[in-house]
Amino acid sequence: MRSQSKMLRIFVVFLIVGFTALCGKSVDAADKIEVVTTFSILGDLAREVGGDRVAVTTIVAPNGDAHTFHPTPADARRLGNAKVLVINGLGLEGWMARLQEASGFRGIVITASKGVKPLEMLEHAQKLTDPHAWQNLQNGKLYVANIRDGLIAADPDGKATFTANAANLATEIDKVDAEVRDSIGKLPPERRKIITTHDAFGYFGAAYGFEFIAPEGISTESEPSAKDLARIIRQIKAERIPAVFLENVTDPRLLKQIASETGAVIGGTLFSDSLSNPDGPAPTYLDMFRSNVRTLTTALSK
Ligand SMILES: [Zn+2]
Repeated sequence: MRSQSKMLRIFVVFLIVGFTALCGKSVDAADKIEVVTTFSILGDLAREVGGDRVAVTTIVAPNGDAHTFHPTPADARRLGNAKVLVINGLGLEGWMARLQEASGFRGIVITASKGVKPLEMLEHAQKLTDPHAWQNLQNGKLYVANIRDGLIAADPDGKATFTANAANLATEIDKVDAEVRDSIGKLPPERRKIITTHDAFGYFGAAYGFEFIAPEGISTESEPSAKDLARIIRQIKAERIPAVFLENVTDPRLLKQIASETGAVIGGTLFSDSLSNPDGPAPTYLDMFRSNVRTLTTALSK
């Protein structure tokens, strides 16, 4: 009798251990935290930090432009069902307030750029905040920490998972940051001045020692005037700027025109505000940096 009850106790312990192990391993699809992110870069970071405890969707698809985006009723429905919303902030998502109201969203809002030291730019005598803070990898670590803290608030049981995933990602970010510094450091300083369509690389330039000149300013919403264009063409010739770079989120025609009028070469396509599709060269936040630095150094070390 005694040995039988001992066997039973052992069996029960096995059941509990087995069940706990299963729970720790994966979360049922129905139990995942619904996370909506505004654009693909935030989507990648939320997926990395959230792991299999979250189901992440992204409003502005890869290669899409978050500046000029127009949300649809389907976006409102998706957001209405979510528990967590991750936005960039710094004025990037001008369409978000209206979408949030239309959706009836009542969940947790994570502002990924919280704590970033914002860069300000003077555009037509107007002081504007530059929203592209993710283009400095050290800011990317702040994004990761903010996403981690917001996910813990939404799902306290996932704290250990989110903390470990965020720590791993921060280590990876530091590795890529060192690679970027090393690669850019090998370029002669006089070649580190280039043209892109819109001013998405102010934080990149400040962090890694590069100057980006952009006819469209910090948003893709405004077209440059003929006067702006003439000034940039004069500057390219006077300063012997070696290359212009296209962006995955902007119309290439403007830069092709500038290149043909100045003789500057087209150095390739940079990923500025959006990742590529999964089969492209920049499907993740870190791949985006690796791809951009490869494009820059290949064109500028010639
Ligand atoms: Zn932009």
